[in-house]
Amino acid sequence: MTETATGTGAGRSAAGTVRATVYGYPRQGRGRELKKAVEGYWKGRVTAGELRRTAEELRRANWRQLADAGIHEVPTGDFSYYDHVLDTTVMVGAVPERHRAAVEAAPSPSSRPRPSAGCPLDGYFAMARGTQDVAPLEMTKWFDTNYHYLVPELGPDTVFRADSGKQVTELREALALGHRPRPVLVGPVTYLLLAKPAPGVAADFDPLTLLDRLLPVYAEVLADLRAAGAEWVQLDEPALVQDRTPAELHAAGRAYDGLGGLTDRPRLLVASYFDRLGDALPVLAGTPVDGLALDFTGAAAGNLDDLAAAGGLPGKRLVAGVVNGRNVWINDLEKSLSTLGTLLGLAGHVDVAASCSLLHVPLDTAAEHDIDPQILRWLAFARQKTTEVVTLARGLGRGTETIAAELAANRADLAARAASPITRVPAVRTRAAAVTDRDTRRSQPYDRRAVAQRAHLSLPLLPTTTIGSFPQTGELRTARADLRAGRIDAVAYEERIEAEIQEVISFQEKAGLDVLVHGEPERNDMVQYFAEQLTGYLATRHGWVQSYGTRYVRPPILAGDLARPEPMTVRWTTYAQSLTERPVKGMLTGPVTMLAWSFVRDDQPLADTARQVALALRDEVNDLEEAGTSVIQVDEPALRETLPLRAGARPAYLAWATEAFRLTTGGVRPDTQIHTHMCYAEFGDILAAIEDLDADVISLEAARSHMQIAGELAGAGYSRAAGPGVYDIHSPRVPGADEAAALLRKGLAALPPERLWVNPDCGLKTRGWAEVRASLENLVTAARTVRATL
Ligand code: GLN
Ligand code: ZN
Repeated sequence: MTETATGTGAGRSAAGTVRATVYGYPRQGRGRELKKAVEGYWKGRVTAGELRRTAEELRRANWRQLADAGIHEVPTGDFSYYDHVLDTTVMVGAVPERHRAAVEAAPSPSSRPRPSAGCPLDGYFAMARGTQDVAPLEMTKWFDTNYHYLVPELGPDTVFRADSGKQVTELREALALGHRPRPVLVGPVTYLLLAKPAPGVAADFDPLTLLDRLLPVYAEVLADLRAAGAEWVQLDEPALVQDRTPAELHAAGRAYDGLGGLTDRPRLLVASYFDRLGDALPVLAGTPVDGLALDFTGAAAGNLDDLAAAGGLPGKRLVAGVVNGRNVWINDLEKSLSTLGTLLGLAGHVDVAASCSLLHVPLDTAAEHDIDPQILRWLAFARQKTTEVVTLARGLGRGTETIAAELAANRADLAARAASPITRVPAVRTRAAAVTDRDTRRSQPYDRRAVAQRAHLSLPLLPTTTIGSFPQTGELRTARADLRAGRIDAVAYEERIEAEIQEVISFQEKAGLDVLVHGEPERNDMVQYFAEQLTGYLATRHGWVQSYGTRYVRPPILAGDLARPEPMTVRWTTYAQSLTERPVKGMLTGPVTMLAWSFVRDDQPLADTARQVALALRDEVNDLEEAGTSVIQVDEPALRETLPLRAGARPAYLAWATEAFRLTTGGVRPDTQIHTHMCYAEFGDILAAIEDLDADVISLEAARSHMQIAGELAGAGYSRAAGPGVYDIHSPRVPGADEAAALLRKGLAALPPERLWVNPDCGLKTRGWAEVRASLENLVTAARTVRATL
């Protein structure tokens, strides 16, 4: 029998024993119970007490599962009703001024349980989601994952106050169940580096200046956890894997000299993940903390050399993240054992872990009944990854002969995957290998293409268009559900889609838009829709991963060589074009975004996978052109977000990413106009890459930043056309025609009228028809008004 937390393994920590651990586990539960309970609570269908009990049961089930798998040290405090960074904000008492009332209005505790001693549930959710009266905290991506956290808002007047309630409660729960828990906290340096100046605070305020005020709060929490029985506490410092200034590194050193120097404290494990620790490694190694957890997978594998160069971690505990915590593939156990073997010589004690919290992967492959059982053997979700960690710990601690059967099975599975006709499709490989530089270039430079396109499309100055999707109404979602459930057949479904396209086209004509779209009513999701039609992709039934709060996504899995058996969008675009004289824009998701929002294969460079996706999309682009489409948009909203964490790795990424885009779009005639689209207002790091895409037109998010991007593009020497958004689609607010006209005039100060387009910030799928109608009518009026002055 494997060891359990209550069995022989738990008590052992003597030298020679290798412990297995993880930093966090999926929170939602097998049946997404947490999502249901939290949303039920918001709607008043679930009481606070029921929600609290569901949460407790989920924590208990997770610990049970981990302990049964043989995990010696279980994480606590990683659970969250919404987000662990928000939990940290509560823990340090940094509740923004505008949420104070909601948080401090603490009515009878029985009706409103507190996720921690100082924060009633309603106040907590007010920070996460806002209320009628107050805006929520801003949400942004957690490093380069697809998890989003709530950004702390700090200022010179922030007063921190320790509130260890949630951490202590969960620690006690786990102890009472007989586990050996290790509380996991967001570390103080990362917390401050992730924060932004609160509204009203000077934009150049540096939250890191609050470190000295924050450390005593962490000291208090650590003391509380120690008193409650924590032997070890983990402090996560992933922000230290990014390029850091000497001052920031110095602050990290100071923080852990301080916390490590405390007398009343548990033992401290400082964890990093997602990339190598680099310059921060010797800094942390030089502090009196008791252990470091490092990632040894993917981009972080360089930690091994760095650690050797730094002289190892003599006398300290090293937790080695050798099982990739964010992909879905089985581990190469022999390779990991070899890494672990090297590490044994470098640290006082080595334990085995997944590289990061398992929050970023689905729960269990066993739930996937639709995936071929042969292929399922290549996949490892959270549950399988814990087993791998345990196996490796056993192999390392007691000799590889104790895991001979596991090693043999792993070797066989890896060999089967490598040899599978799904993994390698010779025709796909031959084609990808034959790609030349010419394939990635349009046949004429932009200036000449622009002339050809002007003649071909005869658009007015300041042409108006939209980003692609129109409101995804309840009826459309019902139609899709009806089709899946067999309540309607394909013909009836297609009729509904066609009816929707008719409505969208007729509205755009009446509103006076210049380049129309079909509205994307047939798409469930901009990546999934294509993944379902490409071979080499796998879909999961239950592979939910938390994106933010109660929103979960099911990323498709790029499993093998990729091909497009038949056209994917031509039917709908040509149908839409048949209804109007005006140009209808074809609409595709770009290769980088397909990768960014999927689980990618780990057996070849990302660049190779990108090239395969690009070739499949190139065929679609060419087919659209062949079918009479003169304007084709290839969306790359994820180009910016996939930027590597370390600046040194960025040029190589941008080179293959822009090449994949150009390979997708390079095969069209000069008079076919290629558009691209990107969201997220920060484009500073990729201005040169935008030029390198060689798209004829780019539409970007800009309404919230008041057209700033137009000036940035011009300043960076961007030479093509751009449509900085003049309508903020993230808000139900209808922008007035005057407002949009003012933004356009601002745009004209940076870009000449021949190169300025007029469009919203992003797709309209989340909006209601009433707002969309009014907003687009105003947008057209604004374009006409400004046009008349040219
Ligand atoms: N064409 C897509 C749409 O309009 C683009 C979505 C996006 O940028 N995220 O919905
Ligand atoms: Zn967008």
